[in-house]
Amino acid sequence: MKAGEFELIERLCRALPYGRRTLLGPGDDCAIIAPSRRPQLITIDSMVEGVHFNLDWLSAPQLGARALAVNLSDIAAMGGIPRACVINLGIREGLDAAFFSGMYRGVGRAARGAGVDVVGGNITRANQLTITIALIGEVLSAALRRDTARKDDEIFVTGTLGDCALGWRIMAGEVKAQGAARRFLVSRFIAPQPRLAAGQQLARMRPAPAAIDISDGLLADLGHILERSRVGAEIELAAIPRSRHYLSVAGDRTDLALSGGEDYELLFCLPRGHSAAALTRRLGVAVHRVGRIVDRRAGMRLRRADGRLIAPPDRRGWDQLESVGSEAKR
Ligand SMILES: [Mg+2]
Repeated sequence: MKAGEFELIERLCRALPYGRRTLLGPGDDCAIIAPSRRPQLITIDSMVEGVHFNLDWLSAPQLGARALAVNLSDIAAMGGIPRACVINLGIREGLDAAFFSGMYRGVGRAARGAGVDVVGGNITRANQLTITIALIGEVLSAALRRDTARKDDEIFVTGTLGDCALGWRIMAGEVKAQGAARRFLVSRFIAPQPRLAAGQQLARMRPAPAAIDISDGLLADLGHILERSRVGAEIELAAIPRSRHYLSVAGDRTDLALSGGEDYELLFCLPRGHSAAALTRRLGVAVHRVGRIVDRRAGMRLRRADGRLIAPPDRRGWDQLESVGSEAKR
C-alpha cells in the first residue's frame, strides 16, 4: 500500500451513505445517531480472506455487499429493522485503492437497499483482508429469540438449503456443474439474500416464534435453538427443501442441505396449526415444514423416508480446518 492510499480508503469510507437518523457521520472520534424509541439490536460479524472467502471467487463489490448481507441476516433472524453500521477493515499488501473503492461501492449499494447508514469505520494493516461489520437495528414488535421454542411446535425453514455450500464447492473445483445450475448455485454463495421482510412478518405473530438464521447449517443452528430452549427435535429428511439445481447437481446427497452452512435462510418454530402454504404467502418467500419440537430427553433425531429415526451425523457444522466456511456465533 503506497503512501496516501490509506487516506484515500478512509475518504472512500466517509463517502458511504447515511441519512437523517445519523446526526454526525464518519470523520470524528465517534458517530452520533439519533435515539430510538424501540429496543435496539446489535450484532457483529467478520469475513476473513482464506477462511470465509477467496478473492478469485468474488469481485470487490460482491465482497462488500456480502459482508453486509451476512450481518443483515442476523437482524432478520431477530425480526428486526437494520439501521446503522460501522466497518473495520484489515487491509493487506497487494490490494490497491481501486479494489477498496469497488468494495465500498458494494457495501454502499447493499446499505442503501436495506436502509442502513454506514456511520463510521476503522482501517488497520493486516496479514489477510478482513472485513468486520457491527450493525445496529431495532426490534420491530417482538424479538425472535432462540430460547422460546416449545414442545409440539412445528419447525419451518424459508427458501432452499444447501445451495450456497454447493456453490462454493463448485467454485473450489470440488464439484462439477454447468450452465444454469452452476450460475444459480454460485450466485447463492456470492449474493445471499437476508430474509429481512420474512423476519419482520414473523415478529408480528403472537406468540413470537423462536427463530435463528441458518449460517452454520440446519442441524447446527437448530441445535442452538434446542440448547437455548431446552427441547429436542425430530427432522423429516424427505422434507428438507432443496432447489431443483441442487438436486440436479448433488442428487440424493443431503449432507450439504443439512450441514453445509451459509444458507442465510430462517428457521423458526410455531405452535401447530400453521400451514406452509399460508406462511409462504405471509412471508413472501417459500416456507417448508421440516419437523417438530419434542421433549428435551429425545435430543435431535432425523426421520428417514422409511420411518426410522436416526441420530444426526457427528459433524454438524463446517470444519474450518478443512474448508472455507462459516463459524459459530456465541
Ligand atoms: Mg445468526
